[in-house]
Amino acid sequence: MSYSNISKMNFEVSGEQKIFLDKIDRVCKSIRDYETRCYLDEKINDRVIPEFGEIGMLGCPISKKYGGLGYDILTYLFAIERIGREGNSLRTFFSAHVSIGQMVLQNWGTEEQKKKYLTNTTNGTSIMGFALTEPDAGSDPKRMTTTFEERGGNYILNGTKHWVGNGTFAKVITTYARGPDGKISAFIVDASSKGFDAQEMHNKMGLLTVKNAEITFENCLVPKQNLLGKIGNGLSVAFSALIDGRLSVAAGAVGVMKDCLDESIRYSQKREQHGSVLAKKQLIQEHLATMIVNIESSRWLVYRAGMARQKLHDYVEGLKEKDANWQDALNRENKEYSALRNKADRLAAIAKLHATNAAFDCANRAVQVFGSYGYQKTSRVARHFLDSRAIVIYEGANEVLKLKIASLEMGAKYDAY
Ligand SMILES: Cc1cc2nc3c(=O)[nH]c(=O)nc-3n(C[C@H](O)[C@H](O)[C@H](O)COP(=O)(O)OP(=O)(O)OC[C@H]3O[C@@H](n4cnc5c(N)ncnc54)[C@H](O)[C@@H]3O)c2cc1C
Repeated sequence: MSYSNISKMNFEVSGEQKIFLDKIDRVCKSIRDYETRCYLDEKINDRVIPEFGEIGMLGCPISKKYGGLGYDILTYLFAIERIGREGNSLRTFFSAHVSIGQMVLQNWGTEEQKKKYLTNTTNGTSIMGFALTEPDAGSDPKRMTTTFEERGGNYILNGTKHWVGNGTFAKVITTYARGPDGKISAFIVDASSKGFDAQEMHNKMGLLTVKNAEITFENCLVPKQNLLGKIGNGLSVAFSALIDGRLSVAAGAVGVMKDCLDESIRYSQKREQHGSVLAKKQLIQEHLATMIVNIESSRWLVYRAGMARQKLHDYVEGLKEKDANWQDALNRENKEYSALRNKADRLAAIAKLHATNAAFDCANRAVQVFGSYGYQKTSRVARHFLDSRAIVIYEGANEVLKLKIASLEMGAKYDAY
């Protein structure tokens, strides 16, 4: 057994990271009240893009070459954890724009694609979204019916995607469609393309400051140079994006739990019933202790998964420098790549499964600590409760992640889906 990975783990933040994370903290605090008002009014928080853009958060893990800050994945996850304290709704904006938006382009795009599309996304001129799910293809994207065919110098897309985060105003989305040979490919689509339509989805239970769209492609024209990755390799692109998406959801969930704990401590120390403050009651302390254990266990799972994801990233970036045909080298026969990808995939799934279940549990406990005062949307804990219901469903429903975790442990012949 090797203990080398454990001894190399170092989650201390450097001076430079601290300055950045302090800026994130300041912006989070400055928009807190406005985020609440926007949530209650069910509208997008229009201060997010300018204020987080100003401090570079719109391109935190994106290379400086494309206007980003060039931070590593752990630093990005620390920032996402802090943003998560303001709620899953705010955090979802960043997951959609950065984790399953920009990072997919950074990882799989050609130099021309990155120059053309990424640069505008790091300065906030253009916001991104990720469109994989369809009305009849959720947990099982292989059922997708969106199609593409080649015509002239273009691809023509037809089909419907739904639940696309940021989809009502994103200028660029990545999407996935099935070709005439049945294989799925990935594409970068300009929202201004002919045949592209996005409509807001209404009546959500929570996540009220982020908007989701149903997107229809009706003979939508996508230039050939907007193919993302190799033809027929779309699911590999999508599944690698979901590793980043899951990590951001898990990191955000840690922030949610921290806020549930802080709110519960604050409230229980001042609310008196039966002769003393709630904080002195043993059954209330049981809620607080469970939240604390959930925060600590989830946080380390996120950090460990983030490190595994960074190693995968470094390996692929190294290949890109050495080999113009780097995408051909990313296959099951490449044992080093397979091992790094499986590890990142497995650890991200574990972190997401654990942290989201734990966040929903923490939010539920926090509402209980607040009693009737926690049953009003004006309280932070009520909003955490409503929003945390979504995170056990999206970026891989938790049942499906359990299947992934078990089959990755036992090998491909035990694939349950
Ligand atoms: C708020 C929100 C935001 C979203 N944002 C995006 C986005 O930006 N982009 C995007 O592409 N999609 C997005 N989604 C879609 C999301 O990823 C899907 O909802 C999710 O993958 C589940 O798919 P589904 O809803 O169709 O449920 P289904 O796949 O129909 O699953 C229903 C239930 O069955 C379970 N289940 C499915 N298969 C199995 C199995 N083999 N064994 C046991 N149980 C199983 C699931 O776990 C779930 O509990 C979003 C969804 C929500 C709610």
